[in-house]
Amino acid sequence: MSDFQYITPSEVMEYLFCPRFVYYMNVVKVGQREHRRALVNKGRTIHERKLVQNKDYLRKKAGAVNKLTDLYLSSQNLRLVGRMDELLFLEDGSAAPLDYKYAFWENKIFETYRYQQVLYALLVMESFKTEVNKAFIVYIRSRNHLEEIQITQKNCDHAKIILDEIFDIINNEIYPNAKINKLKCADCTYRNLCVS
Ligand code: SF4
Repeated sequence: MSDFQYITPSEVMEYLFCPRFVYYMNVVKVGQREHRRALVNKGRTIHERKLVQNKDYLRKKAGAVNKLTDLYLSSQNLRLVGRMDELLFLEDGSAAPLDYKYAFWENKIFETYRYQQVLYALLVMESFKTEVNKAFIVYIRSRNHLEEIQITQKNCDHAKIILDEIFDIINNEIYPNAKINKLKCADCTYRNLCVS
């Protein structure tokens, strides 16, 4: 039995990409050597990210009246720890996470991105005892396109179920089914270990 306690929203994103990532990383403990996958790429160009983070107009557009940056939050209850780019405090008294992605806006919000924001929202609600009804993503490579994500009760409940599934794999050392598009396996670090 593992004494594993916390995971990060990035690990949850990996789980959503392929549930076996959690198994290889946290049960077998095989590390991935380089940048895991594009989907968890927070942006390798720190410089560009910093330039965007200095642009106050994005926060104004989001309706922010105040902000905190580079925020570490953890929750024993959720068994989750995460670092948020920004937390905006909005005119209506609620709060909203804001995340910068070194990515193009592709006219849809990927579920991985959505649940990353939902997990941040859960951390914020618990830590600040405040409402979180929305989150924002800035797509740096699409001229800082600002996209709003609704944080719903349904998403929050589902995120908690996902956390339970992940801890079930870790604590009970379960090798998960991978019902995923096999195209994802082509450049996966674990493809030589993986039993389909
Ligand atoms: S090879 Fe495919 S099934 Fe195995 S961990 Fe990688 S993405 Fe998942």
